[in-house]
Amino acid sequence: MKNKASLKIKASLKIKASLMGILLCVMFVVGCGKGNETGEKILRVGTNAEFPPFEYINNDGEVDGFDIAVMKAIGEEMGYNVEFQNMEFKSLIGSLKTGAVDAVIAGMTVTDERKESVDFTNTYYQATQHIVVRVDSDITTLEQLNGKKVAVQEGTTGDLLVTPEEDNEIITDSSTEVKRFKKGTDAIIELKNGSVDAVVVDANPAKQFVSANEGVLKSVEVEGITEEYAIAVSKGNEQVLNDINEGMQRIKENGVFDELVETYINGTEQSVRKHSDNPVMEFIYTLEFVFISTNGYKLLLQGLLATIGISLAAVLVGVVLGLIIALMKMTEVQKGKKTLFSRIATIYIDIIRGTPAIVQLLIMYMVVFQSKMGIVAAVLTFGINSAAYVAEIIRAGILAVDKGQMEGGRSLGFSYGETMRYIILPQAIKNILPALGNEFITLIKETAIVGYVAIQDLTKAADFIISRTYETFLPLIAIAIIYYCLVKLLTKGLNVFERRLRQSDIR
Ligand code: GLN
Repeated sequence: MKNKASLKIKASLKIKASLMGILLCVMFVVGCGKGNETGEKILRVGTNAEFPPFEYINNDGEVDGFDIAVMKAIGEEMGYNVEFQNMEFKSLIGSLKTGAVDAVIAGMTVTDERKESVDFTNTYYQATQHIVVRVDSDITTLEQLNGKKVAVQEGTTGDLLVTPEEDNEIITDSSTEVKRFKKGTDAIIELKNGSVDAVVVDANPAKQFVSANEGVLKSVEVEGITEEYAIAVSKGNEQVLNDINEGMQRIKENGVFDELVETYINGTEQSVRKHSDNPVMEFIYTLEFVFISTNGYKLLLQGLLATIGISLAAVLVGVVLGLIIALMKMTEVQKGKKTLFSRIATIYIDIIRGTPAIVQLLIMYMVVFQSKMGIVAAVLTFGINSAAYVAEIIRAGILAVDKGQMEGGRSLGFSYGETMRYIILPQAIKNILPALGNEFITLIKETAIVGYVAIQDLTKAADFIISRTYETFLPLIAIAIIYYCLVKLLTKGLNVFERRLRQSDIR
């Protein structure tokens, strides 16, 4: 009996220690997802950092640009601590509606349609639309786009302009094909690849796209169309609306606004890229441009850390939840018939395995978390998802332990639960651990979709690099190699670990 008691104490200490570990990890993750809590007024501002020079990701991987600097200056004037949330352009207005952000600054044009959903501050910038084409193209007017293939950023005024609809007087040919992209740069890459004839986009980004692709692209202004940019706030939020208007007024009076126009709009520098006729030198210059001079390596490193962190935290959640689900399912072995617990576990596994992870992620982030705390939403989604698979791994591991062990435990006076905890599970772990390692490897690759909820993981890092350099091959190959090495490294580690486990069996 003494043995049984000390066994119990040891095991319960172990369980407590692992629970503490998990708790710490969860606290860390929640901490990461939370904002500043210094008591200052916080202004959560949504943007879409794909619209240079108004908003883009700078070489340090941070959201930057004219709009961002203007918003920070307004925040400083009005005593707000401004926090930016980078998201798809078409999600911005929705995020204002759900309250995920308090304001939106994104080179957003004031339109009657948008005014029905949000309130706009006073306008701060006047813009026009441009048609970007390849240098050999003779397209100069919107009318010439009738019947052609055009790429746009989804949900923008450029999109509205070329979409053949009843009230569109310019594009009347319904055979006009409009390809909608989440980012302006993706539309530009499509144009460079020759898959579309033109891109319609606001003047300033158009100029940047052209200067970054000198000799390949050119652009012409669409005549007779002017637009006004303003900051959007949720309908009826007069406090924020008035504060922003007041702050804007002040930075216009004290000259800060004009300074920012000079820095960001008139004096925008493009990172100079060297070219050579020698293909080897050209390749080296491209490598240098993609990974070094635009700090691509930093983005990749940050992304890698995020990928590893999310996968680790998710695997922890998955193991704890998976164990619970497995034990729930095992109650049917104990009772010899289906139980309420086993039914719940079966339904859980069935639903999780029957739906795509990306759908689960979007539901968790947009519906459950209301577009807040992306990291927590991602960890929970992958944890919950992984638990379904882990549960089956654990169940199989437990069932593989000889039946006699349970009978032995029971005849020693242990209850079913005690035999499980002190006799079966420790042995099952040997069967389970290698399979869990594989689950972790799978998870690492699955997390590549977290970019959908605005997390900058490894895949998203490549995406950023593409947006900034218009180079697709190198960043994508780079992340493929990194994922591959990560998986290979883990597999090697797992093999060593498995061999050790097996060694302890040989006595
Ligand atoms: N000004 C355009 C619009 O409001 C494009 C803005 C953007 O792509 N960020 O639709």
